[in-house]
Amino acid sequence: MIIGVPKEIKNNENRVALTPAGVAELIKNGHKVYVQETAGTGSGFADEAYLAVGAQMLPTIEQVYAIAEMIIKVKEPIEPEYNLIRKGQILYTYFHFASCEPLLKAMMEREAVCLAYETVELDDHSLPLLVPMSEVAGRMSIQEGAKYLEKTYGGYGVLLGGVAGVPPAKVLIIGGGIVGTEAAKMAAGLGADTTIMDVNLKRLRYLDDIMPANVKTMMSNEYNIREMVQTHDVIIGAVLIPGAKAPKLVTRDMLCSMRPGTVLVDVAVDQGGCFETTKPTTHDAPTYVIDDVIHYSVANMPGAVPRTSTLALTNATLPYAIQLANKGWQKACKDSVPLKKGLNVVAGEIVYPGVAEAFDMAL
Ligand code: NAD
Repeated sequence: MIIGVPKEIKNNENRVALTPAGVAELIKNGHKVYVQETAGTGSGFADEAYLAVGAQMLPTIEQVYAIAEMIIKVKEPIEPEYNLIRKGQILYTYFHFASCEPLLKAMMEREAVCLAYETVELDDHSLPLLVPMSEVAGRMSIQEGAKYLEKTYGGYGVLLGGVAGVPPAKVLIIGGGIVGTEAAKMAAGLGADTTIMDVNLKRLRYLDDIMPANVKTMMSNEYNIREMVQTHDVIIGAVLIPGAKAPKLVTRDMLCSMRPGTVLVDVAVDQGGCFETTKPTTHDAPTYVIDDVIHYSVANMPGAVPRTSTLALTNATLPYAIQLANKGWQKACKDSVPLKKGLNVVAGEIVYPGVAEAFDMAL
């Protein structure tokens, strides 16, 4: 199959859909890979690295779309790309159709075959192509929390791990899924006194078993949250209710009970946020302050570390890309239920129930 990797053109997107290692694997499987010049630069992969494994470099995005049977991307196509997409062309990327009707309409009109990373689903209902970004965001949340806790950033001025004779900072993590678990590992590793809250007792039992001694678990409810936010230095929002907006667990009135310089990191901002005062921010201006409490709520946290994020994402996406290239999308989706769940739009029709429901359409 002929595979194309365009350079991402969405603002501030530095990830790339294939690393040189991925290109090498696809070529080993008998495929041709065309990469747009400088597509990998933002993630630290020079054109020469792609050339060295046998990729062909093309100067323009138009040429990549024109030649490829399958386009592999990171972010959904944006408007300037719509008209480049050809009938029957496979697009394997994040789409998040439910939140962008013009994108959905464009893909239907172009009659592309859209395989969405975010809906590829394993038998246990986990989402293997979303997990890597949650891992990155979870780990990063503690890095950011520690940074904004510094006095120069307006924080309370405590060191996460403390030192001999001085107690460590206290970190509260609300939601003990992928993001929460990775955050807890980082906080604990830095020596912080860490608590994870969740509503799922089975999950809390598991976390209690595997976490180090400086991580405690606690049932998440309004009473406990209200108590805990008064004494914690960094509070991470990491809840998810699949298919729904995040519940507002830390309310506006709780802010005045917090110490000035407390840092809130709302990773769940992409689902509306789990703090009542959350509003989305960007890497250019990541924080704002309400009642002396610092809010960090960047909707695309992995974008700050594109090298790590590209490697993490492509580790997960490549095996499916190889299946698609080796078998063609029809046979690959017939043979793999997880991959079939990734199909969202085919030949002008919506084929994924969640997307149809989002727009009140019948399948
Ligand atoms: P997950 O499904 O693995 O975990 C969510 C956890 O929240 C579950 O354990 C669930 O039991 C728990 N939960 C649900 N309701 C709760 C409540 N009332 N109190 C406490 N816990 C509750 O999800 P995840 O992969 O960890 O993702 C968490 C959030 O982070 C999602 O909203 C996701 O979209 C977001 N995310 C954001 C970024 C970013 O850049 N900002 C990146 C990746 C993920």
